[in-house]
Amino acid sequence: MMDTFTFPGITQRVIFGSGTLTQTAEEVQRLGHDKALVLSGPNQRHAAEALAAQLGALSAGVFAGAAMHTPVEVTETAMAEFRASGATAVVGLGGGSTVGLAKAIAARSGADQVVIPTTYAGSEMTDILGETQGGEKTTRRSPDIRPETVIYDVDLTLDLPVEMTVASAMNALAHAMEALYAPDLNPVLELLCKDALVAFRNGLPAVIRDPQNLQGRTRALYGAWACSTALGHVSMALHHKLAHTFGGTFDTPHADTHAILLPYTTAFNEVAVPELLAPIAETFGGGSAGAGLWDFAGEIGAPRSLQDIGIAEPDLDRAADIAVKNTYPNPRRFDRAAIRDLLQHAWAGDRPAP
Ligand code: NAD
Repeated sequence: MMDTFTFPGITQRVIFGSGTLTQTAEEVQRLGHDKALVLSGPNQRHAAEALAAQLGALSAGVFAGAAMHTPVEVTETAMAEFRASGATAVVGLGGGSTVGLAKAIAARSGADQVVIPTTYAGSEMTDILGETQGGEKTTRRSPDIRPETVIYDVDLTLDLPVEMTVASAMNALAHAMEALYAPDLNPVLELLCKDALVAFRNGLPAVIRDPQNLQGRTRALYGAWACSTALGHVSMALHHKLAHTFGGTFDTPHADTHAILLPYTTAFNEVAVPELLAPIAETFGGGSAGAGLWDFAGEIGAPRSLQDIGIAEPDLDRAADIAVKNTYPNPRRFDRAAIRDLLQHAWAGDRPAP
């Protein structure tokens, strides 16, 4: 039980279920808009065009140029289309990249957002916007970045390729893991995090066996919602710092990087706060939270070594240097040697000691 906490409330409207995409027009109108620009990445253009057709007169067209890590140049092109189209809202259909573009447009224009996530990355419930310009990523938090309405349609996740499903789910679990020891956690989010662990634990194996399994997909998407909600209200620590270090410096794939690091960052911090990470050990077994997540990653076929994403052993020195450059709160104190050691294990793909 928490003795002290602040619960700021969860202000977003969430529609969750199968077939909910059909409610998009109603949700745009509920926010008071009669023209919305539909956003997606290039691979989901077809789905975005179908959604625009479904929106009919409410659609101000499609911009299908969303890209990973929200490059400012892409946002500027999208902003020009947004202004020219006469839209006052955006509808983002896709993964974290598309949600990022919706947020970037909202931050610049005050547009309302209806976002429809199709991966488990979990940007949709947060007030966080990461943008890249000239190879530099900057991140900010602000209430006007948080999407007003989020539509989760399980049907849209049925075709998410298994590899992406697995990495994206581990990405979501990383949010829950760091939320469990965040100083700004509250009891509502703690319950959501615990529920998310169970939802992924129960849902993912069924999805791996049969990617079209509606019940497994529903559980996984529910877990994604819960993890995203937690991420949207608490601060992150060492795990996210390391994941961003690799993404920013070596351009490693976002979700895979999270998936690989998660068992190791969990094991590292578990030494300091075993009681806070106990829900992970209880859900995944393995004798400890770190080992349990490592075992689970193996069971669902997630990547488990930094070598799998092209990191060479000498890169670890550079990564360790960058990761300790700025100070940030973390439940366990560390120095460069400790981080270098953590990275060595993540590179070798060893099972964290229980
Ligand atoms: P993504 O949005 O780039 O999607 C990856 C690929 O999957 C794309 O090619 C996309 O077209 C495809 N895809 C998406 N959904 C699909 C589906 N259902 N079926 C088939 N293909 C599908 O990647 P992502 O992992 O979802 O998001 C990563 C981005 O999100 C990163 O830029 C990360 O920084 C950001 N992010 C931000 C926050 C935040 O709070 N600001 C949180 C989490 C992630």
